[in-house]
Amino acid sequence: MKIISFLHLSVLAPIAAWSLATSASRVPPPAAVIHVVATTPDLAALAREIGGDAVEVKALAKATEDPHFVDAKPSHIVTLNRADVLIEGGADLEIGWLPPLLESARNDRIATGAPGRIVASQGIRMLDVPSTLDRARGDVHALGNPHFLIDPINVRTIAATIAEHFALVNPKSADLFRANLKKFDATLDVHLATWLKQMAPFKGAKIVTYHKDFVYLAERFNLEVVETLEAKPGIAPSPAHLAQVISTMKAQNARVILVQPYQNRKTAETVARQTDATVLDMAQQPGAIDGTGTYFQLMDYIVTLLSTALQEKK
Ligand SMILES: [Zn+2]
Repeated sequence: MKIISFLHLSVLAPIAAWSLATSASRVPPPAAVIHVVATTPDLAALAREIGGDAVEVKALAKATEDPHFVDAKPSHIVTLNRADVLIEGGADLEIGWLPPLLESARNDRIATGAPGRIVASQGIRMLDVPSTLDRARGDVHALGNPHFLIDPINVRTIAATIAEHFALVNPKSADLFRANLKKFDATLDVHLATWLKQMAPFKGAKIVTYHKDFVYLAERFNLEVVETLEAKPGIAPSPAHLAQVISTMKAQNARVILVQPYQNRKTAETVARQTDATVLDMAQQPGAIDGTGTYFQLMDYIVTLLSTALQEKK
């Protein structure tokens, strides 16, 4: 960055002198921002909270896209090639699409082990770690469940990791990153207390999800996921499995089904009709639903929708 602007000044000296002269009376240009790429919008939202004005953040996956199966585009390679920092979820979440993009991007700043590479799963206590590994089953959670950002306590750990790496990549803004982290943690504490209070009456409530994507939420708020519409992560539901889901839901009085925008809502509706259940439009990505652009807005939405439905179906 600095080398480029120096060359610019020497080679294009007359133009540079002119622009310096004309901009002398204006506000000084902002300090160099670091270019951050996050694989998913939830990680991007955290990067924005911690980075503030000192970062420019892009997410590769759309908010309404399944993070396991993102549509890889040439523009993603360009974005990765220019990045100073890459934040990935890890735990194989992006294994189906990120490695070939990274290979084409050829960017040492975000290579494995570089300060510019952040793997969110490092430092997270993983749930659903399989005792035996068999990828032939199509199991997309081979290293444990990668949907851990839905637990605010995990987010606290990840935000701290992001702040550390940002400070290494851009030491001049280290104080800003530390201050933003402190502010983020304080806001998170306030919100978490509210969320726990909202969910407290529903301790032990039984829920059904489409994919195994809300296990961390269930653990944090003392809910029980009694079934998933998918028999195995990443495998479309079979009629035989759905029949079993319906019978479990009836036996255990589970009457709420959580579905994300990229999952098959019609399947969930069919099951709901036979079990007197409600289908809830959930999301784990900020921005997937209007008015949920930040992590806090998204979690507010999730907790409110879930607690309201559990109250109605109590
Ligand atoms: Zn998954």
